[in-house]
Amino acid sequence: MAAGLAVAAALVWVYLRTRSAPRSTRFAWLGLVLVGCAVGCFVAAPWLEARPVVERLGWGILAAATGLAHACAFNLVPLPHNRTRLRMILVPLGMWAGGAGSFAILTQHQHPWMDLVALALALPVAAAWACVPFLARAPTHVQMGATPVPALRFCCPRCGTVVDWGRGVWPCTDCGLFLKIDVPADAHSASSTPDDPAGAVHLHCPACHTPRIATRGRSECVQCKATLSLHWNMHR
Ligand SMILES: [Zn+2]
Ligand SMILES: [Zn+2]
Repeated sequence: MAAGLAVAAALVWVYLRTRSAPRSTRFAWLGLVLVGCAVGCFVAAPWLEARPVVERLGWGILAAATGLAHACAFNLVPLPHNRTRLRMILVPLGMWAGGAGSFAILTQHQHPWMDLVALALALPVAAAWACVPFLARAPTHVQMGATPVPALRFCCPRCGTVVDWGRGVWPCTDCGLFLKIDVPADAHSASSTPDDPAGAVHLHCPACHTPRIATRGRSECVQCKATLSLHWNMHR
């Protein structure tokens, strides 16, 4: 039971971290419901006659929830601009692995071929996590054609994916939203009002690297006073 609750706590952490990104919100809520069901199984099991069955059910649900957590995380992991298609493989891979693992656990490993399928899917999922430090390494520059442009990493204000944006006009790697980024702020941009419904993004100041919030329009770093301006136009 303790191991099950520890896995559940780790999954809740992943879901809470990814829930605010619009493209992972539904998966994250579904995952939180699954984890709640699994925790219910683990907590109730000691008082039930069918304890092994209920515990197995808890582990089966956790396996599916683990696959979903992988999908939530890889929905948002920053990928190099020329490798964003990897997401189309890595996101479903986690869900298939979780589903296959869940089936294998719930059927008490009675079908060896299903264990093999689950293992064959789980290995590339584990490899993907091992590759995250290399895949998601923050570049100092991104390429605009043949020209290297200083990069700025923050979440896309529309889909929530972490993107390495270049300065100037740049599209989100995943949803295609165009942002115009000027460092320092362009002379004509005004500061946005604090209640701008389009919100703000969290980034590191390009001058002093202090974490700060940049609103749409012109904003200033409180540490070093460096300015930048962000413009985007959201169509739903
Ligand atoms: Zn986007
Ligand atoms: Zn600064």
